[in-house]
Amino acid sequence: MDVVGEFQKGEIDGKPCLIYQNVIKPQIHSPNSSDEKHLIQNPLPIQNMTKVAIDSGDNLPPPPLFICPSLRFKLTITIEAKLLDDGGPTPDVDGKLRISHLLGDNMMYGHDILPLFWCNNKEADPKNDCSICNTRKVGTCYYFCVECDQRYHKECVESPLEINYPSHVKHSLQLYNVKTFEHCILSTKKAEVLLYYCALCDIYMHVLCAQAKIPFLIDQPKKHDHTLTLFPRQASLTCNVCGLVDKLHLTYVCRSICDFVAHIDCIHNPQTIRISRHFHGVSFTSSLPSGKWCCGICRREIDSDYGAYSCNVCKDYAVHTRCALRKDIWDGIELEGVPEDKDVELPFYRIADGIILHFSHGCHMKFETNGVYKENEFCQACVLPINEENFYVCVKCDFILHEKCADAPRKKVHPLHPHPIEQKVVHENHEFECAACMRKSSGFGYVCTINGCDYELDAVCASASEPFNYQVHPHPLFLALDPKKRQYATFASQQEFKR
Ligand SMILES: [Zn+2]
Ligand SMILES: [Zn+2]
Ligand SMILES: [Zn+2]
Ligand SMILES: [Zn+2]
Ligand SMILES: [Zn+2]
Ligand SMILES: [Zn+2]
Ligand SMILES: [Zn+2]
Ligand SMILES: [Zn+2]
Repeated sequence: MDVVGEFQKGEIDGKPCLIYQNVIKPQIHSPNSSDEKHLIQNPLPIQNMTKVAIDSGDNLPPPPLFICPSLRFKLTITIEAKLLDDGGPTPDVDGKLRISHLLGDNMMYGHDILPLFWCNNKEADPKNDCSICNTRKVGTCYYFCVECDQRYHKECVESPLEINYPSHVKHSLQLYNVKTFEHCILSTKKAEVLLYYCALCDIYMHVLCAQAKIPFLIDQPKKHDHTLTLFPRQASLTCNVCGLVDKLHLTYVCRSICDFVAHIDCIHNPQTIRISRHFHGVSFTSSLPSGKWCCGICRREIDSDYGAYSCNVCKDYAVHTRCALRKDIWDGIELEGVPEDKDVELPFYRIADGIILHFSHGCHMKFETNGVYKENEFCQACVLPINEENFYVCVKCDFILHEKCADAPRKKVHPLHPHPIEQKVVHENHEFECAACMRKSSGFGYVCTINGCDYELDAVCASASEPFNYQVHPHPLFLALDPKKRQYATFASQQEFKR
């Protein structure tokens, strides 16, 4: 039985929308086939079939049962290995799943079929992630596999090998087991493992996003005064929020006379956010004051007629909507109504002229100017020698800091990480590895302030900021946006230079 995911018109809570359904693919029979009358003319929704089967006795096929998604992965590998053994053409082992989600289709393999129990809990399970897609908590409707001792989303278990998506009518999308991070075009979030993929367009969708209902009408007064209506086909219209023409995103239009167009994810953009590339918060604006604007992230021009994020403090800082919302730039937290954090904790108190008390050291430190290179004296923060530069030295012991290292802020934002980072002086085992240059350091670090995020930079990498002026290159350098090229190429070179 071939099953395909499709959308059909329906209503949820009295609101019209497109609803996802798994349907049986119409069989293609030859015209003189004898069983022509059994041909399924219209796709039959599986959910309805299940209901009929339960309601009216034993005459209809039994309700479908599903197999564990982990087993689908394993069986796919087995099939690929067998094709190779048989000496047939090398299968393209690209992660495309070959195993249906239905139990009936997979009995022939003689593998253990893992029992899955349908859990319909009243309260969402707050702790458990789906073990196959790693994207969201399993919520209230999930399956539990006894054999694997794992929970899985309903959508992840019941995902057919193929779906048709309304904003992507030319090709169907296939189910893949993907090992790298990709971006889901429906949520712009990172996606991995179980995904729908169109190889012709090179686009990915989370299994959950691909099966979510699509409303016909959306009211979002923060973006537009009138109700927005789903544009029923792939649209080459410029989105007022992000300024891009992106046919692959679901597009909504204003049916009043006001020429407003927005992608579904753009309609729900956050209003105020913090980004890793700028010290202040930035807020969404539907247009910028006219003039020439350069995006603070990608350095390309911003069309001031379309939406962008602009700084709440600086008059001249703005970024493209989609640049601001990148996963490696924005921490995912909306800050609307949250006042800007203005308490700046100072790194030291000035006790007297030239005498400070630094937060990292209990004794007073004295300011000194240095005319010579001191080979055996190293700054406690950056672990680099005290060169011909100013420094603070402890009046009682040999604790020493460069002037610029003593001045370094306790807390900062850094272009390499979406969350704020703060100084950490004491480390377990007296050392740590810098996440940017991968070197071990025994000096001060900057650790991420978010619980559970283990990101830490050494003092040198943390001091790098944009733009970086490298003396042997005539132009200022900016951080590359491709994460693969990024960390080593730009900031590591700075450290080499300083040593
Ligand atoms: Zn899942
Ligand atoms: Zn396509
Ligand atoms: Zn948009
Ligand atoms: Zn940009
Ligand atoms: Zn600013
Ligand atoms: Zn230093
Ligand atoms: Zn480093
Ligand atoms: Zn972090």
